[in-house]
Amino acid sequence: MGFFRHKTTQHIPLHWKITRKCLDMIFESSKSNYPQEFGALLRVDRVNKTTIIEVVLLPGTISGDSHAIFHLYMLPVDFSVVGTVHSHPSSIARPSNADLDLFNHFGRIHIIVGVSPFGDVSWKSFDYMGHEVPIEII
Ligand code: ZN
Repeated sequence: MGFFRHKTTQHIPLHWKITRKCLDMIFESSKSNYPQEFGALLRVDRVNKTTIIEVVLLPGTISGDSHAIFHLYMLPVDFSVVGTVHSHPSSIARPSNADLDLFNHFGRIHIIVGVSPFGDVSWKSFDYMGHEVPIEII
């Protein structure tokens, strides 16, 4: 709200990448949290600012199926954190209304990992509008 709303300048398409290691870690965490939801933040390399290299677990992250796992007040002020990842233990990788609300308020790139087996075919990535955008695996 107001003059400093920065989302309007984020129309430039970025070429997002994620390391194989980081993606596998996301799959493993989604599996180990099942049937609970897994949620974390995405951190990029400080030099290659569109390459996701790490997930950051939030203290006190609440697991459950409500998708209310991300609390904006606990998100760090850290410009290497570019977005979120969470699993959908019982549904496909499509953003819920709550997800879209989160995406629109925080971050530029978001990953949802769909129902088990939580692997390469079950994840999708989205921009802050909820539009599907590709991430290259490196
Ligand atoms: Zn969700």
